[in-house]
Amino acid sequence: MKISELFNKNKTVFSLEIFPPKKTSSVDTIYDTLDQLKDIHPDFVSVTYGAGGSIVNNLTCEIASIIKNKYGIEAVAHLTCVNCTKEDVDSILDQLKQNNIENILALRGDINPEYTPKKDFKHASDLAGYISKKGGFNISGACYPECHVEAPSPEEDILNLKKKVEAGVSSLTTQLFFDNNVFYNFMENVRKAGISVPVEAGIMPVTNKKQIERMVSMCGASLPSKFVKMIQKYDGNQEALRDAGIAYAVDQIVDLISNGAEGIHLYTMNNPLVACRISEAIKNLL
Ligand code: FAD
Repeated sequence: MKISELFNKNKTVFSLEIFPPKKTSSVDTIYDTLDQLKDIHPDFVSVTYGAGGSIVNNLTCEIASIIKNKYGIEAVAHLTCVNCTKEDVDSILDQLKQNNIENILALRGDINPEYTPKKDFKHASDLAGYISKKGGFNISGACYPECHVEAPSPEEDILNLKKKVEAGVSSLTTQLFFDNNVFYNFMENVRKAGISVPVEAGIMPVTNKKQIERMVSMCGASLPSKFVKMIQKYDGNQEALRDAGIAYAVDQIVDLISNGAEGIHLYTMNNPLVACRISEAIKNLL
């Protein structure tokens, strides 16, 4: 099923994101994660893709295939283009087709100084346009309520987002944010710009201080004082911080659903316990 069909059904779409196991762990570890996540009955699960090129990324397709063909849950394969040629993308699309995967999250990927970017695709919109022309896939894209770090201004970032939608993207998922007002302001500007596709709100439950520091340095999410106080209070008590992080994420999600968010995308960080507790708390609200 194409995930665009999930929206507008009088139900908030609820999806999960996982990443392939690190090189040092066996791919089998993903089964433990999926065994627990399947009981949540998400509308779909998306699988991330590294920005290092196609060779290191076969696992994305393999795991998306397990989700779709073994667990019977709709799967979205992320695909970053910064280090891909058209031939690389063609080969990945073939692989996805062979595995019955119909949904792709088309991304540029972060520019890694270790790799010289390939020239075929400069932006995610180029990849979305390329896949759209080839046909057969539903394409989604990423968006940034606090503006992408490289964009000259929030206004230009939204104009660029519009190009991505015009290139064939049928729904969007946001970068994580901890302040719902940031999302509501962003949505107002997105709709004003004439972008009408559904937007899922990306929520990351915070479970440890290091994770927050890493995330904030990567994506520049702003931290509301309520959130900072929570971290300060429970820093050093891992279980308490995890419980507080879950409560914070649930609070965000309840507010988002009450305010009409079309979808919630949970960055699970491959932590089924946290994802299951959040899902249990919100299952009657979706
Ligand atoms: P783009 O849409 O290309 O945007 C990048 C920059 O270029 C922005 O500043 C934008 O304003 C500008 N721009 C865009 N289009 C144009 C245009 N046509 N003309 C001029 N300027 C333009 N990274 C991974 O490596 N693997 C993943 O699996 C992954 N999954 C993600 C999932 C989500 C939901 C999100 C929000 C991010 C994810 N990322 C992932 C991170 C993402 O790759 C980075 O944020 C990257 O820096 C930008 O990717 P993009 O697809 O948004 O790029």
